[in-house]
Amino acid sequence: MRVSTSMLLEDAHNGGYAVPMYNTVNLEITRGLVAAAEKLNIPILLGIAYDAIEHMGMEALYRGADVIARAASVPVAIHLDHGRTYEEVAAAVKLGFDSVMIDFSFMEFGENVARTAEAVKMSHAMNVPIEAEIGHVPGGENTPTIEDASHMVYTDPKDAAEFALRTGVDFLAVSVGTVHGVYKAEPKLNIALVKEINAEVGRPLVLHGGSGTPADQVRAAVAAGISKVNIGTNVMRAFINGLRSVPESVMDVRTVLRAGRDEIYNVVAETADMFGTQKATY
Ligand SMILES: [Zn+2]
Repeated sequence: MRVSTSMLLEDAHNGGYAVPMYNTVNLEITRGLVAAAEKLNIPILLGIAYDAIEHMGMEALYRGADVIARAASVPVAIHLDHGRTYEEVAAAVKLGFDSVMIDFSFMEFGENVARTAEAVKMSHAMNVPIEAEIGHVPGGENTPTIEDASHMVYTDPKDAAEFALRTGVDFLAVSVGTVHGVYKAEPKLNIALVKEINAEVGRPLVLHGGSGTPADQVRAAVAAGISKVNIGTNVMRAFINGLRSVPESVMDVRTVLRAGRDEIYNVVAETADMFGTQKATY
């Protein structure tokens, strides 16, 4: 069933667990993610980001996700991940996304506040909750340059509280030691910082760059107040591994795609266990 992102994240925020957001770029991945969630009986968010939109088109991806989510036996919400412009966010809101993200985290604080506040006004006018980022999680999403861990800007708790207050965002993505994409060195999350931000902000916090972060660190971050974790890289990796596992002699494209789709279950099972998503109360 389709549900509101706010309902999912408020329950997570109150229940001390996190809801996973998995990125999708096609129908097979969407189907694989929802099938896995049904098998595990957990709620999930489907994340549609700019690279997926470039690949498949926002409306095609959204409509496919909508049909699959509506038919699901578990709660599913559809989220615009890393909206780049007002136009993109407006298009998603208009189509019916359950939530959107606008990311101006690469800009300086005042500019991030001003631009984010504009996007919040627009999405709230359509009753759609919105996420934004303060501090900066590096790694290629919506950023002008190629970035590595040296581009990380940790979120300052006081800035985070001021940002939330001045912009009115519903969910806040924070930078506490993760990086988008593949890690070159093992990450070290600042759990004390998560706790501090959570105490200051008092609304659901989001962790980007969840793929490849050691399980004990993720568990600690969730316990400290993270309510949504974004997983992109590991979903894509599983799908690709599945496709590659099919012998070259196989000529039925459905067999190949199904192998990719089915491989996604393991990623969902592993991450949902780390996040405690089984604690969801609906
Ligand atoms: Zn992200």
